[in-house]
Amino acid sequence: MGGLVVVGASLAGLRAVEAARKSGFDGPITLIGAEEHLPYDRPPLSKAFLAKEDTAPPMFRDEQLLDELGVRLVLGRPASGVDTQDRTVRIGDEEYGYDALVIATGASARTIPGSDALRGVHTLRTLDDAMAVRAALAPGTNLVVVGAGFIGSEVASSARDRGLTVTIVEAQPTPLVRAVGAQMGAACSSLHTRNGTTLRCGVGVAAIEGDGAVERVRLSDGTVLEADMVVVGVGASPATQWLTGSGLTLEDGVVCDETLHTGAPGVYAAGDVARWHNPAFSRHMRLEHWTSAAEQGALAARNALDPANARPYATVPYFWSDWYGSRFQFVGIPATDEVRVVDGDTDSTGFTALYREGDRLAGALTLNRPRDIMKYRRLITGEASWDDGLAFAKTRTT
Ligand code: FAD
Repeated sequence: MGGLVVVGASLAGLRAVEAARKSGFDGPITLIGAEEHLPYDRPPLSKAFLAKEDTAPPMFRDEQLLDELGVRLVLGRPASGVDTQDRTVRIGDEEYGYDALVIATGASARTIPGSDALRGVHTLRTLDDAMAVRAALAPGTNLVVVGAGFIGSEVASSARDRGLTVTIVEAQPTPLVRAVGAQMGAACSSLHTRNGTTLRCGVGVAAIEGDGAVERVRLSDGTVLEADMVVVGVGASPATQWLTGSGLTLEDGVVCDETLHTGAPGVYAAGDVARWHNPAFSRHMRLEHWTSAAEQGALAARNALDPANARPYATVPYFWSDWYGSRFQFVGIPATDEVRVVDGDTDSTGFTALYREGDRLAGALTLNRPRDIMKYRRLITGEASWDDGLAFAKTRTT
């Protein structure tokens, strides 16, 4: 059939399909997704969706709207391979020809080997995961969250709201170091202790045990935590297994140039699965952020359909996370040359911290400063100096 094939029917895949039609492409489009569900939004899964039993699943579009886009949907069937010479995607024995291909298979939650078979041990990546977690969030339940990253922290916060007793176990001495640096990782995670969640850092999980269902978590220092439920939030791995042997370069994601091109004719990648060269910071990056997945999906489709006019994807990364009624927002990169709190203080309910790389303003983290964060993003996009960043900060606090 040819045309555009998009593998991965979630945020980046949907934006790819929408952008293709918006750009005037009227050829065939096939959207292939491993899950049975129509495309849905993931951020609410660890937030509003867990808050109340009757919150509806956060679907992006209904089937009729996808129909109107003229998309052939192949759901519940994972792609199993791609032949970049013949330009075909395989699902088992079936082959789908393409002229342009967008790979948008995202990432899958990492698990703790040996614990998957126990009832009451969860990860949180998909709508099905979220439904299982939500159904288990009964007041009085003892929840152990493994990993104090953003998703683990959001689950802990939602569970506290619903009256659970929550302990987070984090192997690193300080949480969130890769995302926001050590100083701010400590500041962010102090929200847990301030809200009645127990946080144990610098200790690993030796085993998750129980007879059929989880009963306890044994830590590497010998401590035993009683648990009725465990949520494992130890990060995600790019979903590239199906591309093994395809000839595409796979190194913690599908490696792409700055236009999201993989190097194979007509093949582009987008979203959590893509490791691309970001001209805004002159380095390869793989982000697991909503905004970049949406933007990359749209651009990958446009570039795949019109490679002669392919445009680069240059971005200052942005993400948010909501815990205990507060909102963290981060733009840029967590550079380590200097981190300075320029507004509020880290023990209070709001603050701004700036990150320096050389002479450049490289990043900004805010807690409950929604009006400021995009202003810092614009400064970083314009390659503002550190001094310009500090001068701007003064205008926000006086
Ligand atoms: P995904 O959303 O992972 O979708 C990939 C899709 O491809 C999946 O549906 C998968 O089933 C499918 N797939 C995989 N393999 C195959 C295959 N072989 N064949 C066919 N289909 C396949 N970001 C923020 O910035 N802020 C937040 O607050 C935030 N909260 C989040 C909360 C949760 C619980 C999660 C899981 C993520 C959150 N994120 C947040 C991250 C954000 O949701 C992701 O960056 C975004 O979903 C990435 O979109 P994607 O389309 O690239 O990948």
